[in-house]
Amino acid sequence: MRVLITGGAGFLGTALANRLVELGHHVRVLDDLSAGDPARLSPRVLFTRGDVRDVPKLWSLLQSVQCVFHLAARVSVPESVLYARDYNDVNVGGTVAVMEAMRDVGVARVVLASSATVYGVQASLPLHEAMRPNPQVPYAVAKLAAEHYVFTLGALHHIETVALRIFNAYGPGQRIPPVHAPVVPQLLKQTLAGGSLVVFGNGQQTRDFVYVDDVVSALVAASQAPDVNRQIINVGSGQETTINELIQAIAAAAGRAPEVLYNDHETGGVVHMVADLHKAQRLLGYAPSVTLPQGLAQLLEKDPRVQLSHTPHRGLS
Ligand code: NAD
Repeated sequence: MRVLITGGAGFLGTALANRLVELGHHVRVLDDLSAGDPARLSPRVLFTRGDVRDVPKLWSLLQSVQCVFHLAARVSVPESVLYARDYNDVNVGGTVAVMEAMRDVGVARVVLASSATVYGVQASLPLHEAMRPNPQVPYAVAKLAAEHYVFTLGALHHIETVALRIFNAYGPGQRIPPVHAPVVPQLLKQTLAGGSLVVFGNGQQTRDFVYVDDVVSALVAASQAPDVNRQIINVGSGQETTINELIQAIAAAAGRAPEVLYNDHETGGVVHMVADLHKAQRLLGYAPSVTLPQGLAQLLEKDPRVQLSHTPHRGLS
């Protein structure tokens, strides 16, 4: 297969690109490097810097491509609250641009990296694909709009479409920006540095943490599986974990127990999340293979940024 990965220099995109070249596919990546870093990409990946809304650039990159993995997006939930228009421009506008360029060139299939945040608040768990989406933040609204655009334009222009609702992915290579960092690498880094952890709410809110390699397996399967056209498919671990349990697992992996401070003035966002994986098992043959303790151990072992801060504790200075 010849594929294009938009956002392919990011956390999930890099892992996907490297897996696909290992499997013998020809991989092109388009990324504007607003958050990505091409240094971790295999030299066998053809990297192009550019904006996903640049349709002429997409036309040339899509020549002879059979499948697009559309991952390019702004990815911070809290940032999207502050910059809703930017999130709409990139996450919705970028998706429409990709679909129009695919129509023009005649590409067969797109796999959209959607998000479990589209579920928002639901009356019951686990979260399954037939539930009515109830997005609570602009990031989630934009992902839901992207799903609708992909399915609608795909049906109109005879492009096969599949959207994966990815839960909280973590693993080596995930960015740790100074503000609004994803919870797993942020808490791990803080713990290793001997700092205190600040938890919003009481820490009993739950998430479904899924290791990057499992997400990549689902993305690859979605590009090849029959019978996935116009399907929404959850990708998670199927395990519901409280933030307090995550902190315990991080403490065990790091070999030190952090001080935990609870900030009751802030909420911890959507209260409970865990994926129903029956559809992923049925349509993709998907089965998560990495437990949270195993994933944290691998993150610790493989991520140089985490290793750097993993020095013996010398107390507070
Ligand atoms: P990431 O920020 O590491 O990757 C996104 C990439 O898109 C970055 O490399 C960034 O430079 C690039 N990008 C942003 N705007 C662009 C633009 N205008 N043109 C070209 N490239 C652009 O994030 P990630 O965690 O790897 O997420 C990848 C995809 O998966 C995103 O669509 C995200 O919404 C989705 N997703 C991720 C998770 C998760 O837990 N990581 C969960 C649900 C969904």
